[in-house]
Amino acid sequence: MQLETDLIHVARPEQRPAPVNPPVVRTSTVTFESLAEMRDTKQRREQGERMFSYGRRGTPTTYALEDAISRLEHGEHTQLLPSGVAAINLVFMSLLGPGAHVVIADSVYQPVRRIVEGWLRPWGVAVDYFDGSAEHLVATLRDDTRLIYTEVPGSLVYEMQDLPALAAIANERGIPLAVDNTWASGIRMQPLAHGAAVSLMAGTKYLVGHSDVMLGSVTANGDIGQRLRETAITMGQSIGGDDAYLALRGVRTLACRMETHDRQARELGEWLVGQPQVVRVHQPSRPEHPGHALWQRDFTGGNGLLTVEFSADTPAQRVDTLVDRLTLFAIGSSWGGFESLALPCNIAAARQLDTRWASRGPCLRLHVGLEAVDDLKADLEQAWAAVQVA
Ligand SMILES: *Cc1c(COP(=O)(O)O)cnc(C)c1O
Repeated sequence: MQLETDLIHVARPEQRPAPVNPPVVRTSTVTFESLAEMRDTKQRREQGERMFSYGRRGTPTTYALEDAISRLEHGEHTQLLPSGVAAINLVFMSLLGPGAHVVIADSVYQPVRRIVEGWLRPWGVAVDYFDGSAEHLVATLRDDTRLIYTEVPGSLVYEMQDLPALAAIANERGIPLAVDNTWASGIRMQPLAHGAAVSLMAGTKYLVGHSDVMLGSVTANGDIGQRLRETAITMGQSIGGDDAYLALRGVRTLACRMETHDRQARELGEWLVGQPQVVRVHQPSRPEHPGHALWQRDFTGGNGLLTVEFSADTPAQRVDTLVDRLTLFAIGSSWGGFESLALPCNIAAARQLDTRWASRGPCLRLHVGLEAVDDLKADLEQAWAAVQVA
């Protein structure tokens, strides 16, 4: 069966007759018929079974979402967290400790650097960044490297990496490779299928798809999957049934939403590339994107993101004016919801090794939503025209 079909049929209630969707379970305490039943549940739980025994350990509603995400990610175990950032932290917490070394891709989601400076280094973890290439990764590894952490494509300008090559290097040395898979959100690529040990996502983005829930997920196989779950429970990380319910509802329509986001973003990218002062449109589906061939090999399609790079002589103020003129593109952080968004971004501040950005022009990230693409194009046209006159 194709993934699209699976996402409709996975994690549906089994009892008959049944509602279509798993009901929302809201509870802290779980009550038992007898002490024997309670003790049996605890014993099975300690042997690694996912047992409904206390709200913090999950409920049938969160289990249903975990199962759907496991299917999406081609993995065995999924742990849910209250945000994408919590998912990143869970990976670090579970696989690192004082004295360990971690290698992180330079093109990561910017808040990861905050995690590095805010607690990884103070906690006694040594951190190095690599430029995304297999050669530089090998050069950066040490005997005490315990984790390789990356994100494909990179945040903001979507640098591609050869994921199977990075995974081969990691697996040869027995070092887990963790991948932030938010861009693909499982529907466009599954890191575990390319050899990664851990895949994490900000479910906040495309899985939820409606900008109304914060969610993170971490998926892994075997022992690492168990370890991630135990750490999450130890650290008191859990999510409520209502959020899990909404996220599962989002997953049902992920495939068709993503197709529309992708198609519309390609159309607008094509239009934007021809506009004055635009020197590049960063979008992996564009043939001139430096990682286009790798993206075509490893991904089944695109999403709604693109980043417009203006010429170096474009004043940042001009981009701000353009954003303020847009009426259908709202101004806001995040992406992956049904709505279009625009946000100026500073790439130089988001990269350490890649120093080319200091001398380049301002950038504008767009998330192309599910509005009619002609309306979105008209909105961009009027804003562009207004800026040319101003
Ligand atoms: C948004 C995002 C996150 C963080 O997700 P939150 O739910 O906002 O904490 C992590 N990684 C990537 C690539 C993201 O885009």
